[in-house]
Amino acid sequence: MKIFIMTDMECVSGITTDAYLDATSPYYQITRRNLTRDINAVAAGCFDGGADQVHVQDGHGVPNNIVLDDLDPRITLAHGNPANWCWLDSSFDATMLIGQHAREGG
Ligand SMILES: [Zn+2]
Repeated sequence: MKIFIMTDMECVSGITTDAYLDATSPYYQITRRNLTRDINAVAAGCFDGGADQVHVQDGHGVPNNIVLDDLDPRITLAHGNPANWCWLDSSFDATMLIGQHAREGG
């Protein structure tokens, strides 16, 4: 089973204000850490449930939000333009969303 995970930052665990999304804010590093932990938790569930591949795409702004040193080494990080979901194709069995939000400012 092959899983695709698209991420965003606005609804990552523990994020309560826009300050957590500002790359110049000290809170931003907390958001990056929490995003990476959320990804690892979801991926662990996928692997435990029978997935043999988990691919993740960093989908917030400039895609350097995931803490690479802390990412579960079983996960494949897909690099590319997050706006077009460039890595998602029919070879995937399921798609999951982490940290996504419904609308701008929402
Ligand atoms: Zn975002």
